[in-house]
Amino acid sequence: MTDERREGFPFRFACRRSGNCCAIPGGFVRVRAEERRAIADYLGLTEAAFSSRYLEADGGHLKDGLGSRCVFLRDGGEAACNIYPVRPQKCREWPFWPEVRDDPDLLAQVQRRCPGVTPDT
Ligand code: SF4
Repeated sequence: MTDERREGFPFRFACRRSGNCCAIPGGFVRVRAEERRAIADYLGLTEAAFSSRYLEADGGHLKDGLGSRCVFLRDGGEAACNIYPVRPQKCREWPFWPEVRDDPDLLAQVQRRCPGVTPDT
């Protein structure tokens, strides 16, 4: 597995399939309009059915599953995403988020939580 690096980020990343990034207490997954359509298509649902089943009332975030886990997180020895090919952009970019790069406290939390994030020395 090749570690991923991005300019300006002080760490490298290689997913270890912990699923921890999909179960952050207080976290939420933003879903844009085009992502709603893609996920609904992938699941074979109308957009209305997808929204009522999987989105919060504001229409812009996924509902939680058990506890603070994403409703699409599949547990197991290796966690997986049930909508991986059409997962939202925010999920695709984990952990290379500007707010993680710019906030030392958040960066420290991410490094504790995600076994795939290691300092880039
Ligand atoms: S949509 Fe998939 S990748 Fe994104 S938080 Fe949920 S389980 Fe994780």
